[in-house]
Amino acid sequence: MALYKTDALVVRARDYGEADKILTLFSREFGRIQAIAKGVRKPKSRLRGGVQLFSYSNFLLHKGKSLDTVTQVEQRESFLWLMEDLERLTHATYMAELLGAALWENEEGQEIFLLTLTCFYLMQSLEPKLVARCFEFRLMQLMGYKPQTETCVVCNGQVSGEKRQFSCDLGGVLCPRCRHQDHQSIEVSGGALAVVNQLLKMDLRKLDRLRISPQLGGELERLSRQFLTTKLEKRFKSLDFLSKL
Ligand SMILES: [Zn+2]
Repeated sequence: MALYKTDALVVRARDYGEADKILTLFSREFGRIQAIAKGVRKPKSRLRGGVQLFSYSNFLLHKGKSLDTVTQVEQRESFLWLMEDLERLTHATYMAELLGAALWENEEGQEIFLLTLTCFYLMQSLEPKLVARCFEFRLMQLMGYKPQTETCVVCNGQVSGEKRQFSCDLGGVLCPRCRHQDHQSIEVSGGALAVVNQLLKMDLRKLDRLRISPQLGGELERLSRQFLTTKLEKRFKSLDFLSKL
């Protein structure tokens, strides 16, 4: 397979040498690809249009030892709106970083690819924070970490009530008897966990109908961050930046 074609999102692009760019692509068929686009920063480069950050393009690549080479590219969607304001840009960058960590250990590339593409589209009209929460919980689900919200993650007993203990380490709520199983469990409201279930189940085309109060939004953000951090065992650079926005 010297030459191959794939649809991919540009999730990272950095300048290299005089006029080249090194790209991290997230492709539909092959997961993560590192590629070089030669001469792309020259004004007349034919590749220019399709290799910008967050572009969704059809790539013709030449397989290399460590880096593949972009031979042709045809842009399908520029996702320009992700570049046009700081909040969208920061959230898209954060999602791209999450992908970097998720794909590393995940085989279900295709579904994660479609999720990312959908969320990039949704960010055109919806609040980036809402889309990011949806992306986080669905990504966790696709990675096999679906949070258990209604039955105890240790004994499977029913857990109800407005205040529940959630163990990020064990991946779900704890009943009062099993609470001691994780001393770092956090308190989460039944309302927040109900939204998590909705985010996981709902038709994403209806995401605009979901109304979340700022308080509930804050709670969901804390939960998803802690859950992600625990599960991925990694602090993301952009998390610190996002919390300052
Ligand atoms: Zn229990």
